[in-house]
Amino acid sequence: MTAGEFELIDRIAARTVARTDVVLGIGDDAALLQPPAGMQLVVAMDTLNSGIHFPHDTAPADIGWKALAVNLSDLAAMGATPAWCTLSLSLPEPDSAWVDAFLDGFDALARQHAVTLVGGDTTRGPLSVCVTVFGFIAPGRALRRDSACVDDDIWVSGTPGDAAAALVQWSSGVTRDPALRARLDRPTPRVALGLRLSGLARAAIDISDGLLADLAHVCRASAVRAELDVDALPASDALRAAAPDPDTRRALQASGGDDYELCFTAPVGARDAIETAGKEAGVPVTRFGRIVEGQGVVATTADGALWAPVRAGWDHFAG
Ligand code: ADP
Ligand code: MG
Repeated sequence: MTAGEFELIDRIAARTVARTDVVLGIGDDAALLQPPAGMQLVVAMDTLNSGIHFPHDTAPADIGWKALAVNLSDLAAMGATPAWCTLSLSLPEPDSAWVDAFLDGFDALARQHAVTLVGGDTTRGPLSVCVTVFGFIAPGRALRRDSACVDDDIWVSGTPGDAAAALVQWSSGVTRDPALRARLDRPTPRVALGLRLSGLARAAIDISDGLLADLAHVCRASAVRAELDVDALPASDALRAAAPDPDTRRALQASGGDDYELCFTAPVGARDAIETAGKEAGVPVTRFGRIVEGQGVVATTADGALWAPVRAGWDHFAG
């Protein structure tokens, strides 16, 4: 590590949020953390590589936001309360202005959720950001992928497809809608909703690779089949304007990536409570399908015709 990199760590350490459960934070060989008695630790890690997980022209503050957001989204999908995180930064050169701007976005989201950075690693290399988040959940309360039951409703939060529409606009050079681009660059992790769903919903997953692809993970883990109506999926006004053709819009909603909305299943009897949970968490929730016996995911349009997506989701290793 170079002197420049030590200076970067000082800048990072100066901006962390205080938490009483951090016995020892950044500065020693390792952090000392005090989890609450009786709680299970929930851990998730996600890496963002330049040009793969965000467009090359993404602002450093947006990269900072997104690096934490995608990880908080994983904790949200478990129904956990976030607490701590670590950050591995690989930078082409020790650029303090870049790190300050990165921290502007990272800190803005960290403060919203009272999450604090307790350590990390700073290295030289191609731009890459890896965050690990740590949170808590009471035993037995996690929203696991293997818990969907036959006759459950299938729900989604927010309006899927917006981030994918922004990516299409970015790569095709058509008029770019800043509202859609914000959904790509600054996803909102549904932490408050996840906490309210714990004890109410059964299975949950956050949508990173596309709604159908991610729902298929739930079906595989739970050994059930999902039947859904793509025309019941909610669409934002911005998405309707960007994709007036219904089939293009369906493809973006059902198989676009990077939404970081929650897809979850719940018993029919929980409908009212789930609507209330969405209202309390400040995000709309929409029912668009049903879990049945069998396997796989089957989508139909409003007229009952079978519908297959143009593409089943982002696969970083395809093509
Ligand atoms: P070591 O050589 O013992 O691994 P480092 O010099 O890499 O220690 O790091 C010194 C301290 O700074 C450690 O507490 C480490 O967790 C922290 N740190 C290093 N890089 C980062 C980073 N990008 N974000 C947060 N903390 C960091
Ligand atoms: Mg180190």
